[in-house]
Amino acid sequence: MRRPHIVVVGSLNLDLIVEVDRLPDQGETVLGKKAHMLPGGKGANQAVAARRLGAEVSLIGAVGRDAFGARLLEALRTEGIDTEGVKVVPDEGSGLAFITLAERDNRIIVVPGANARLTPDDVDRQAALFRAADVVLVQLEIPLEAVEKAVELARRSGVRVILNPAPARPLPATLLRAVDVLTPNRLELRVVNDLPPPAVEAPEEEASAALEAGVRALLARGVSSVVVTLGAEGAAYAIRDAHGNPGGLHRVPAVRVPVRDTTGAGDAFNGALAVALAEGRPLGEAVRMANRAAAIKVTRFGAQAGMPTRAELERWQE
Ligand code: AMP
Repeated sequence: MRRPHIVVVGSLNLDLIVEVDRLPDQGETVLGKKAHMLPGGKGANQAVAARRLGAEVSLIGAVGRDAFGARLLEALRTEGIDTEGVKVVPDEGSGLAFITLAERDNRIIVVPGANARLTPDDVDRQAALFRAADVVLVQLEIPLEAVEKAVELARRSGVRVILNPAPARPLPATLLRAVDVLTPNRLELRVVNDLPPPAVEAPEEEASAALEAGVRALLARGVSSVVVTLGAEGAAYAIRDAHGNPGGLHRVPAVRVPVRDTTGAGDAFNGALAVALAEGRPLGEAVRMANRAAAIKVTRFGAQAGMPTRAELERWQE
């Protein structure tokens, strides 16, 4: 089989990670257990996920002209990812993510740096990549105008687009209508629908109703299909039918695994979903494959380092 070609348009960050027993309170200092400096960023992570699962991957993005940027590019090239479409910004630092990792609780602050300098023209210059792609995969850690340009180029080239709306923000209807698969998590689903995050965690029944309503609202606004990642509960998906009516919500339970590090779980999911769709699999099968890839990732440390290979994914299927 020909290797599918995935174009990822998104961020590259250096992840500065500290493992702690518990998070500090306001004004408090705690001692961390261990610190790590690792390549990350949703765009780069999803590129690595797709590449390890066997796709040819091109990444379009931006880094600063600094040691971090060089390190981020090197990590991607080592994976065999085409980085010709990553521009180096002379007067801006590379994106940084400050991550505190406590048991069952990861908290992240991202400083976009060079990622914020990716322009629609930068994306447009890579139009040839879109024409050769099977699937285009985009997130929201780059300017919305660059996201819109990527989606527009994909549409014009007749290529399917997955938009992972993370970090979430309300999205224009024109963009939603042009997206084939939208992949929010539960919280992002609310924000994309212009609802505030819930003040307290809703009881199961209420959460389930909110999930269905949120997905139906997005399908009604013109998205072709919605896949919601649900952490340890797995994922759920729904498709608009041929008449434009929202179809029912299908649940795919998570694979039960011991959790080591959930950083990049959503990225593993999206990268795998892109590969599965590029291979021509129907959405339900693609979601099951993505669920398995993400489960393997959470058993291992590091956003990019923890991404499974195709051989590992296939072993898990047995
Ligand atoms: P999230 O971004 O937290 O919704 O997670 C993305 C995907 O990672 C989920 O849809 C699951 O496939 C997988 N995942 C996350 N947490 C777990 C877990 N504790 N056990 C198994 N799979 C998980």
